[in-house]
Parts: sequence; structure tokens; C-alpha cells
Amino acid sequence: MQTLEIEIRNPNGLHLRPLGQFVRTCGRTRSEVTIQNLATGAGPANAKQMLRVQPLGIRMGHVVRITAQGDDEVEAIATIRAAIEAGLGEEIAPPAPGAAAAPAASAAVAAAAPSATRAGPAAPPPPAAAPAPAAAPAAPPDPTARRLVGLGAVAGIAVAPAWRYREQAARAAPPASGDPGGAIRAAATAAESQLEALAARIRAAGRPDDAGIFEAQAVLATDPTIVDGALAHVAAGADTATAVIRAAAEAAVAIASLGDELLAARAADVRDVGARIARILRGETLALPDRPVIAVADDLPPSVTAEIPAAFLRGIALAGGSRTAHAVILARGLGIPCVVGCAGLIEAVDDAAGAGTAVEIALDGEVGLVLIDPDAAARAALRQRAEALAERRALAAAARGRPGATADGARVLLVANIGSPDDAARALEAGAEGVGLFRTEFLFMQRQAPPAEEEQVAAYRRAFEAFGPERPVVVRLADIGGDKGIPYLGLPAEANPFLGVRAIRLAYRDPELLRTQLRAIWRAGGLAGVVPHVMAPMVATLEDVDLLDALRDEARAAVVTAGHPCAERMVTGIMVEIPAAALLAPELARRVAFFSIGTNDLTQYLMAADRGNAALSRFQDALHPAVLRAIAGVVAGADAAGIPVAVCGELAGDPAGALILVGLGVDELSADAGSLDEVRGALAACTRVELEALARAALVAPDATAVRDAAAVLLTRGPGPAGAAGPAA
Ligand code: PEP
Ligand code: MG
Repeated sequence: MQTLEIEIRNPNGLHLRPLGQFVRTCGRTRSEVTIQNLATGAGPANAKQMLRVQPLGIRMGHVVRITAQGDDEVEAIATIRAAIEAGLGEEIAPPAPGAAAAPAASAAVAAAAPSATRAGPAAPPPPAAAPAPAAAPAAPPDPTARRLVGLGAVAGIAVAPAWRYREQAARAAPPASGDPGGAIRAAATAAESQLEALAARIRAAGRPDDAGIFEAQAVLATDPTIVDGALAHVAAGADTATAVIRAAAEAAVAIASLGDELLAARAADVRDVGARIARILRGETLALPDRPVIAVADDLPPSVTAEIPAAFLRGIALAGGSRTAHAVILARGLGIPCVVGCAGLIEAVDDAAGAGTAVEIALDGEVGLVLIDPDAAARAALRQRAEALAERRALAAAARGRPGATADGARVLLVANIGSPDDAARALEAGAEGVGLFRTEFLFMQRQAPPAEEEQVAAYRRAFEAFGPERPVVVRLADIGGDKGIPYLGLPAEANPFLGVRAIRLAYRDPELLRTQLRAIWRAGGLAGVVPHVMAPMVATLEDVDLLDALRDEARAAVVTAGHPCAERMVTGIMVEIPAAALLAPELARRVAFFSIGTNDLTQYLMAADRGNAALSRFQDALHPAVLRAIAGVVAGADAAGIPVAVCGELAGDPAGALILVGLGVDELSADAGSLDEVRGALAACTRVELEALARAALVAPDATAVRDAAAVLLTRGPGPAGAAGPAA
């Protein structure tokens, strides 16, 4: 038996596309091949069966153990290793520093005896902030509604007739003339060929990433879990089509229940494949639109989305779905608007269709708005918004490379949130003027032990050197706990992790984790020749600041004693994300060099609404006046002490939020690199006085919706009085 241990470096782990390639590669060998996820202990599973490997939940940074047993086991392992190292059809991050010097750390092969689990080099983290799932319907659907609001998934505006996609009714397949198993296998093979042809067509259209979705689905079509599961249902009396749909549904439920949002979104792929096999068994074909439409569905299967001729698909509106659904990915690739999680949509469209006329839909994918049969005034308003959006995008693109500023030249530092030094290039490309939040906890995740001090020095140094001495990088001390548990730390389970021993609070019990991190930051600053900026998350009290100062000073003393290069000084600030800290802002501001407001947690704690609970989405908008009043108080406290205030929560990357935050007096906005263009453009279109007036109105607005509406007036009117994009760099 041959064994290979290797780290998966695909950005989303072994999700559908690379998983398809992996299973295909294993399937071409004669050996029996298994795979086990060493990061979680899941498996081993048959590596030739997609639906066995998928539940292992293999994410970026996970180390997997692959075994091969058979007459070609040596070649099999070599081929599999080469495929993984080549990225399984995706671009992957290069091995972390250190891996080149010690190739065995990247992939270890041993004969017979599996080698010990390695604690390898820091893996690049998963995307810093996973998109939130679609909100659960908050109210019972109103079938007479003509104006519905869901989640904006892809920005853009479209108006076109609705094309309703309905999941097929569970209609029985005609009785198979011979062996039902043979009929199912033949239909599965036909589905595989159809999907391969679809993939080839999309690849030829220059969309290789999208093609990968269908190549993976082609592998799924003949997966024994579906075929064998269907045969079991046939044995229990079901017709072949129903049997396949049931088997696919069972496999999808198993995947959806894994508690992983990315995998849950992939459950739709499995159902999609089942539906295709069932269609073949029933002798049906899907009636596709032959003119421009907006597709309306509960959830639009990816292969259906792709089969609609691109020229005819103007937009997608889904009652269900999530922002990570493949329909959304495809919509983004096609550049068409998409709204998901729109409760009541199906009932409203079907009701309108029941009146006998063709239903027309207007979509605003930026704000998640769906209008059914819009009247002339609504159309005119949308046309205006479309023009404003186009103008804003053009302006934003042109303003790249200019510093953030309002139309009248008031400077607002626009910096990026990163989760790894690997994100630096993308941030710089987007014109980031530095980093306002380096979420270092990702360096601690998806591994078996904390990163060693040396490894951390290398990571922070890379980030510092990428931005240089003029563009500060704010390193946030590891925010461990809450929803970011680290299994290897063995922390006791808590009834309320978000209210538990999280972040700086961990250091009261065990200061060494943060002390090591601070030593690494001092050293990295010294090596890179920069003044490191550091902030502590989850600060609630003045005592927390005492602790931060003590850890910082102890760390420096240790670095100097050990004779390492060390930064001259360190700028220390705190995150304001706990209501207590917001209330203590005047006192805290006299003790630290800067504030960075974490609106994600500040909203969660102020509104007493778990940030991950979709049922509470109505309480999770950081534009609620309650949150804005807290922010105004923090700014006042900072101003009195003369320290700057940044915002690094998601609100900073929301153009409406950016306008209001700057109006409230925030000096710096830190957001995902992908949001910076829009934020820069939005600020450049408004004067400081306008933003201050907007902020004053927002503070006394009744709710977050009224605040958004007020901001939309500025956002949608196009360039402001100055019409310029801020001062030239
Ligand atoms: C926040 O809470 O707003 C924040 C930026 O921190 P995180 O999202 O990492 O908790
Ligand atoms: Mg936070």
C-alpha cells in the first residue's frame, strides 16, 4: 500500500470542481484508493466516489491522507499527487514559505505505514468572511405583493418577462421494459454525456471556471451513491425516475446537514443531477426560453441556468438560494443581476400569471428588489438607477489609484481587510492605502497546532513588506473563540461562545498565545523596517487595555533580550465592538492610539442578535440608528482625545454605510478589496457637508430601512456637485 499526505490549497477546498477532477483522477487508476481528512478525522472514504468524498468537508489548509492499494499503486499515488499539486483545475496558492526548502512538508509519501500527521506551514486562510446564507423568510408570503425584497446577490438592473422554472412534479417514469437497474445506469450515462457536452460548450465560450461545475456534475451522474440508492428505492417499489430523485435528495440532505455553507450550496448540484437523470428516464426535455427573460425559481439548478442561451438570460430571481449558490456564481460570470432569498416571490409571480397575462419582472440586484409588473413610474425610476449605476461604476474604475476623499477633498483613508499576506496583492491592485484589519486568527485555523513564532514572523513580515513603511498594516491579535473555535487549543465548551472567553479574554487565562504573537509582530516590524500597528479585538474595559499594554511590553523585552531585530515602537489600538467599550470611549481613547469599530460584532451585541442566525436578519443591519448612535458616541470620545477612528466591519464596505460613517466623522474605512472601488466612487460624489447632513438624519431615523433610503438618494443621483473623483494622487 502507498500513502500520501498532502495539504489541499484550493481556495474553497475540495468543493465541487476540484473534487470532480480529484475523483476522476482516482477513478482512472486500477488501485483501491481512499482519502481521509486529517484535519477533522473524517474518513477514510472511497476516493473514487464523489458522494463519499464530499462529506469529508475538505477545506483549504486541510491535510489529507490518501492511500492506494493495487498493482499500479505507485503510479496512482504519483498521478494523484501531481493532480493535487497542479490545483485540480484551479489556480491555487503557492506552497507557504518553508515548503520549498522541505518538500516533505508539502507532500509526504510513505510505503505501507502511514506517516504521522504533520503540522505543516501556515496555510493561506479561507475567504475572510464567508457570505451570509440567505435570510429565512421573515413573514408569511403575501401573494398580492408587487414589490418584494430579497438579498442582492449580483448588482445590476434588468426588466424582462418572467420565465418560471419549476422542479418537476414527481411523475413516474414509464415502466422499464427490461431491467430497471440497466435503465437507470443507461440514463446516468446519458446524463453524464449531456453534462460533458454542456461543459465543453461553456469551456469553448471562454468560461472554463463555469465549465468545471458541469464536468464535476458529469462525474456525479454515475456516482454509485445515486445509482445504488436508486436501485434500493426500485426494490422497495418506486418507479425508476422517482427512485433516482429520492436517492439524489437523500445524498443532498446528507451534504446539506454537514453545517458547512459552501457544501450546503453544493447539495443543489446533486439534486440537479438527479433531476436530469429522471428527465431522461421519463423521456422529457426541458423547455428553455427562446427570448430574453428573467428566470424565476425557488432555486435554479446550475445546469438549467447554463442551458438557457446566455443572450436570453437577463437576470435571476430566487425565492431560496444563497449568495454562494452556483446560480449566483453563473450570474456573476454572465454579468446579469441576481436576487436570492426573496420570500413570497413564487406565490406572487404565480398569482400574477394566474391572471392570464405575461408577467414582467424588474430586478435590482444591488438592493435585492423585485418588482412584479412594474408600472411606468417604477420603470422610469429603474432606468434612472441603471444609468446612475453605470455612471458610478465608470467613475469608480477611473478613480482607482486616487486616495479616498469626498468631492470637496476631505480625506478618508481607504484600506483593506485581509486574512493572509496572500491577500496583499489583490488589496494593492484595488488601490488600498494600507490594511485596516489583518484577521490573523486565520493563521491559526485549519491546522493541528498554533503557528510557531518564526512562521508568524514570516507572515507578518510579508504583509508589512508588501505595503511598505508609508501604508500601515493594522495587525489584529488573534480573535479566537465565538464562531472561530480552534479545536487544538482544547478550550472548554461554552454555552454562549459569542459571550464567552474570546479574543483578548483568552489572555487572562493563558497569555502565551498573544505574547508569542506580539513577539512575532515586533520582530517582523524590525525586519521589514516599519512601525507595526496592532489592535486587540473584543476589548470591553480599561483592564483589557492594561493587559494589552503589559503583553506588548513583555513581548518587546523578550525580543530584545533574545537579540532579535525589533521594531522601534508599536502603535497600539483597540477594536470597539462591545457596547461597554463604546460607552467607555472617552476613557479608552485616552489610553490607546486609535479605535477601529467592528460593526459586525457591535451590531450583534447591541441588538442581541447572533450574527450567524438568519432568522434574526431584521436585527442585523448595522445601519440601524441604535448602532449609528453608538458609533457617533465612539467618534465623539475619540475626537476629544484626538485619536483617529476607523471602521473595519462590513458596514465600511457598503457604499450607503460608507457615506454615513464618514458623515459621522469616521476617518478611515477598511473593507474587502472588492468593495473599495464602489466606496471610493460613492464618497467622491458627495461633499462633506452633504454627508454630515445625511448622518444627522440617519441618527433620528426610525429604522435601518429609512437610513438606507436616505443614503440611496445620494448614491443614486450620480456625480455630486464637484463631479470629481477626489484629489489627484
Ligand atoms: C467586526 O466585528 O466588525 C469585525 C471586523 O471583526 P470580525 O468580523 O472578525 O469579528
Ligand atoms: Mg468582531
